[in-house]
Amino acid sequence: MEQLVAFSEAYSLLWCSALLVLGLVIGSFPNVVIRRLPVMLEMQWRDEAALNVEGDVQLAQTRYDLWWPRSHCPNCHQPIALRYNVPVLGWLVLRGRSHCCNQPIAWRYPLVEAATGILFVAAGSLWPPGVSLLGGIGSACLSHCSGGD
Ligand SMILES: [Zn+2]
Repeated sequence: MEQLVAFSEAYSLLWCSALLVLGLVIGSFPNVVIRRLPVMLEMQWRDEAALNVEGDVQLAQTRYDLWWPRSHCPNCHQPIALRYNVPVLGWLVLRGRSHCCNQPIAWRYPLVEAATGILFVAAGSLWPPGVSLLGGIGSACLSHCSGGD
């Protein structure tokens, strides 16, 4: 850990860049949760309601959770190519429009990713590498995610 502290002090720009990239990548996860959790809950409630009303009913077997299906266009449901699925940069390259059907992509996606990246850099400038930095990043992420509703 002492080596990491020394590295962060000696190469602060590189350290902050690494934290920014890590924050951008992790920042794409709240977008997944914000978009998919309401759909997952609605699917679960419909299944429960169907069971309560109709009793023995065949439930939908389509898997839909935080991990599957892979990232897709919210408009036409085409899978998003990996090169366009890069946090913030993908949105900028596409100028805020989907590659498949040229429909607008919500600015919320790059905003959440960029905010998370900035939070990581801010935490990295406040705390040295170690448990306190992880705690600071965790606290920032929790407060960040709680504002997503
Ligand atoms: Zn599309």
